[in-house]
Amino acid sequence: MQRPLPTQKLIPLNTNQLNMIKKRESPIEIPADEFKKLGYQLIDSISDFIENVGEGSVTTGETPKQIQTLLGDEFLPENGTSVEELISKTSDLLFNHSLLNGHPKFFGYITSSPTPIGALADLLAAAVNPNVGANILSPMATAIEKQTVKWIAEFIGVSPNYGGILVSGGNMANFTAFLAARTAKAPKSLKTDGLGSISGEMVFYCAETTHTWVEKAAVLFGHGTKAIRWIPTDVDNKMDTTILFQTINEDLKAGKQPFLVIGNAGDVSTGVVDNLSAIASICKDRELWFHIDGAYGIPAAAIPQYKKLFDGIQEADSIALDPHKWLYAPLEAGCTLIKNPQHLLDTYSAHPVYYNFDKNTDEPSHNYYEYGFQNSRGFRALKIWMAFQQVGKSGYIEMINNDIELSKLLFQEAEKHLELEAVTQNLSITTLRYVPSDYSKEGNAGNKYLNELNEKLVNELQQGGKVFLSNAIVSEKYCLRCCIVNFRTSGKDILETIDIIVEEGRKVHDSLQLIL
Ligand SMILES: *Cc1c(COP(=O)(O)O)cnc(C)c1O
Repeated sequence: MQRPLPTQKLIPLNTNQLNMIKKRESPIEIPADEFKKLGYQLIDSISDFIENVGEGSVTTGETPKQIQTLLGDEFLPENGTSVEELISKTSDLLFNHSLLNGHPKFFGYITSSPTPIGALADLLAAAVNPNVGANILSPMATAIEKQTVKWIAEFIGVSPNYGGILVSGGNMANFTAFLAARTAKAPKSLKTDGLGSISGEMVFYCAETTHTWVEKAAVLFGHGTKAIRWIPTDVDNKMDTTILFQTINEDLKAGKQPFLVIGNAGDVSTGVVDNLSAIASICKDRELWFHIDGAYGIPAAAIPQYKKLFDGIQEADSIALDPHKWLYAPLEAGCTLIKNPQHLLDTYSAHPVYYNFDKNTDEPSHNYYEYGFQNSRGFRALKIWMAFQQVGKSGYIEMINNDIELSKLLFQEAEKHLELEAVTQNLSITTLRYVPSDYSKEGNAGNKYLNELNEKLVNELQQGGKVFLSNAIVSEKYCLRCCIVNFRTSGKDILETIDIIVEEGRKVHDSLQLIL
């Protein structure tokens, strides 16, 4: 191709420039026919992986050192390698040396089996790669995220007028709301004057069972952990709202600035839902921001027979929930819902000169960078949006309800068993512990030996790979904790889990007896 060269000044193009005028060759590009071939192969192997995910162990139990050895410690490669080899090697590393939360006997912490459609959605999202920070950069993806947020609000049964934003998870969803609450309730403009301008210490309230994000928030956002008022729980493990009310009044009398109360809708240890309507009326009375941490549990509000348990959620100024928990989205997906989304704009919006995001439309653009921490943002909404449509509201209700039923089954079977003590059952979390037949099941709270035994049992089970569960301390009892956010778990898995726990419990007991 002949280019007209400038007449005034002759600047010759170098060879590289000339070549790139002909055709740019980028080493990272994969030619279409190869992309198809390798893509089909990868989809085939992912499909086999998903089909057989329940056949083997939940985890190989390999040590970090063994994993490091497998991976090798080569330096950054100087030159490229074949994509085919790379995909095959990487698939092997991940399929065969991961903890598989897609396994039907994975009940640990609160991570779900990922939806297969979510895997496809992530591939699609990555291929198009919209930057969902600004509407102009992601016209369709922004609209899909708005609809997804609206659907999430509709699903849990609050007004679809709640707005919000998708974030990376529960911590970020709670942080996003925390700062909106602070901006809204601070007596002065925090944006211009900062925390230092406020005379009374800003304090906030939550049950003592609240997730550790509140400590991170207190530290990161400049309050210090002394600003947290940990409210004791009552016999049902719910926040004691009488003490809450008293504490707020004492703080007011002492010249503090209470601004926020956090209610749990499914606390992280036992799944208890606080008395949300009582908290809501205290907040109304004292003009405090009412936030709900529903990271795990709030999707259960969609189920007609559990709706009552969540009375009061319509009153929340903000709600945090994790689609990567009980909506089974692949990591990562959290969501902040806000009754009046203007509070997010008040907190997060800024208009630098180098953003030309608002100019060319009649209506104001919905730019997600103004609603939260992130600027450039990935397309998290797609995996949630597609899954909602794949199964509908009814499909989700069925899956969540079945998780709860299975958790109840586990509790009942533990109750029946002579060597198991069923401790709590809320939503889809069951806590239980192994009690050897030479101990009685009752009256052993705080028993040092049983706590030691069950702690060791959790470790053995987590390493063993037959089932994966985590732990909780409930009324001084060290418990095994099974949280079922797993659409692959069946009743058979539950019965087998009982057997696995008892068998391993006996072994651990025997081994400890030898030491004693
Ligand atoms: C899981 C959980 C969190 C933290 O969520 P991440 O997604 O892990 O950041 C916070 N609160 C509750 C109640 C949770 O269950």
